[in-house]
Amino acid sequence: MFKKVLIANRGEIAIRIINALKELGIKSVAVYSEADKESLHVQLADEAICIGPPHPLQSYLNLTSILSAAEVSGAEAIHPGYGFLAENPKFAEICEECGIIFIGPKASMMEKLGDKISARKIASQSSVPILQGTLDPISDLKEAIKIAKKIKFPVILKAAAGGGGRGMRIVTSEEDFENVFLSASSEAEKAFGDGRLYLEKYLEEPRHVEIQVLADTHKNIICFPERDCSIQRRHQKLIEESPSPAVSPSLRKKIQDSAEKLIKKSGYIGAGTVEFLLDEEGNFYFMEVNTRIQVEHPVTEVGSSVDLVKAQILIAQGENISYLKKREGCNNHCIEFRINAEDPQKFVPSVGKIELLRFPTGIGVRIDSHIYQGYSIPPFYDSLLAKLIVWGENRKETIKRAKRSLSSFTIEGVKTTIPLYLKILEDEAFLNGAFSTRYLERHTFF
Ligand code: ADP
Repeated sequence: MFKKVLIANRGEIAIRIINALKELGIKSVAVYSEADKESLHVQLADEAICIGPPHPLQSYLNLTSILSAAEVSGAEAIHPGYGFLAENPKFAEICEECGIIFIGPKASMMEKLGDKISARKIASQSSVPILQGTLDPISDLKEAIKIAKKIKFPVILKAAAGGGGRGMRIVTSEEDFENVFLSASSEAEKAFGDGRLYLEKYLEEPRHVEIQVLADTHKNIICFPERDCSIQRRHQKLIEESPSPAVSPSLRKKIQDSAEKLIKKSGYIGAGTVEFLLDEEGNFYFMEVNTRIQVEHPVTEVGSSVDLVKAQILIAQGENISYLKKREGCNNHCIEFRINAEDPQKFVPSVGKIELLRFPTGIGVRIDSHIYQGYSIPPFYDSLLAKLIVWGENRKETIKRAKRSLSSFTIEGVKTTIPLYLKILEDEAFLNGAFSTRYLERHTFF
């Protein structure tokens, strides 16, 4: 059993991990940047170490500072949360070399599945459906255009190293191909240090469905029911729900089986998510694997009563998680809303001080958050303030609960996405479960 774990992250996920460690009787070490001195994760952890200036490159992405903090505090393991170093194979490798356990997959596995091109190949070798396109990085433009014409425009160019909704460009015609390719490749090179691109068919109205997976060192693989993450802005998720209004029990089984095949074939160990696109005919296609805990993991926790963060820690300790298998079902309907500090009309960040804060309470409501009244939001990090997770016996009850929770959720001092969600909850298409990833593009709410 670990005695002490360092959390290489901030915000709500740092607190989520501290909570799991407390329940397991493990001491927690928080790290923080100079901008996060007043942050709640610093106050809640058993120990806290400042790792540098506000800019992420100098603190939360600074491998040396974080590893020194682990050494000084005597932490045996590091939980990376999501974002920052969570999917950085170099970091996982250095942890391994320093004898510190990285709570996540091995560096080699991260390379294999974190790289979108390599993951797509493994999916195809595992007979998991993938969208038509290229299996290798595009090296010959003429050849790529030929393929695009064969599978018919529109196609999407994707960076092998892309993430967080970045590094993707839709191409609608042959004439545009070269220009879009060149700018996408140089953008990817700048953003991720890797300009490799591949192409696949662009689906016009897909849903985003994903399978949460847990795999341990004893060959147990657990695939939970899907999360539907179709409500997105700029390819980034805003609302996630489980089960998906568009997935029948038989389709669910097929998607879960595909996720399991891929995990088995790759030999993946840890918590991960296999993402798919679902078309209007019920065909689904592999998209990518996220080799970490995700923002929307509580939706699955509520449906299954499995603490996924605890499970990650137990897997890293080499424990057998077969006892969790019987809980892989779906006990209720659950929806998560990402409460971001953003102007809900333009999705531009809104920074400032939380002047007044009142969280909703009551049955079927969970809030994961690091904010408090009087907290000043630092401008250096992402805009997530809180996750409101609501659940009920069915979708109808959950939606009613979401409305009453969001109506009593008071945040003053900064703009948030709450007003947008209240409008979505009145919209017929959303209420009928009839939406695709382009839902927000197609609707004007303000
Ligand atoms: P990231 O790693 O940046 O999150 P993903 O590959 O998970 O990127 O894709 C994010 C979103 O982009 C998807 O949820 C979907 O909305 C859109 N997308 C990606 N690939 C396609 C595609 N082939 N056709 C249509 N939409 C796509």
